[in-house]
Amino acid sequence: MNDNQLRVDLRSDTLTLPTKEMKETMLNAGLGDDVFGEDPTVNILEDKLAGLFGMEAGLFCPSGTMTNQIAIKLHTRPQTEVICHQFSHIYLYEGGGIMSNSLASVKLLDGKLGKIEAEAIRQVINADDDHLPETTLVSLENTMNKGGGSVYTLDEIRPIRQLCKETGLKLHLDGARIFNALVHSGERPFDWGKMFDTISVCLSKGLGCPVGSVLLGSRVEIKRARKIRKAMGGGMRQAGMLAAAGIYALDHNVFRLEEDHERAKAVGKILEKAPFVKEVLPITTNIVIARLSQISPESFLDELTERNIWAVKFGRDQIRMVTHMDFTDQHLEAFESRIKRWEK
Ligand SMILES: *Cc1c(COP(=O)(O)O)cnc(C)c1O
Repeated sequence: MNDNQLRVDLRSDTLTLPTKEMKETMLNAGLGDDVFGEDPTVNILEDKLAGLFGMEAGLFCPSGTMTNQIAIKLHTRPQTEVICHQFSHIYLYEGGGIMSNSLASVKLLDGKLGKIEAEAIRQVINADDDHLPETTLVSLENTMNKGGGSVYTLDEIRPIRQLCKETGLKLHLDGARIFNALVHSGERPFDWGKMFDTISVCLSKGLGCPVGSVLLGSRVEIKRARKIRKAMGGGMRQAGMLAAAGIYALDHNVFRLEEDHERAKAVGKILEKAPFVKEVLPITTNIVIARLSQISPESFLDELTERNIWAVKFGRDQIRMVTHMDFTDQHLEAFESRIKRWEK
């Protein structure tokens, strides 16, 4: 048997396939037309997540890009400005949506591991001046994808919350991987809900659902968000089949994220010894970023795919690997033995 037969796919935690149990709950979901607000399963999912975070309401959407973009549209107007880290998903990976959906400007900040601090934000809030776009929103990301899955703690958020309150800015959280962050820190969703005006939560990443993200916020803002979702073409009809997967994931797949974090650390240790790897960035959750030397990311990825290991390029001299539900101990062993053979 070819030793490389088992595919080791670490490109993203969105690759997970729904399990048999998840598919069974999807088949049995109660359904209705969610554009009429009548899909009982969607309503249960929205209420369940809102309840967990202590927020008033939720809105089920097809993607995390849509929940983020709706939030940005809620909190900005044309000629206003969003403050975020230069490596934010909302800025880098949402197709220029801040500009095209909201006609808003962006102020990019730097910060270690993709995180920004209250003092840096304070420095770039625009004064009330005809020349300047009005700052209306700060957006944070937790865990921070481009920061290598780094995690904000509540103690880091509090001064930012305070600053936003003092200056009348809205605060949004791109929580595509918020449960990875919470499982790591041991903090409670309820305490996070108190800090933000809106939170976007992805179900289709580490939680293992095929589709879906939920935007959380106040009842008034979620009512406006429904209208924006409609205009974006994100109103889905019998979406309860998808929402059922989300409910299943919240009940079964949250605490197992710890396993992904453990395997990510193991992947990092193995990768440190691979040829051409100069450095592996600190691993906090399920994302592993390796910096390369004397090889392009493209050639390094070719070497990996020859060994049936899949990763993605992540900047000029970096690659990224993400652990997930479908990367098991068997995959980890295969990964280790293939990298070890390469060393020789
Ligand atoms: C994946 C991701 C999103 C949303 O992505 P979709 O593919 O649109 O669901 C948003 N923010 C971050 C940090 C992500 O990793």
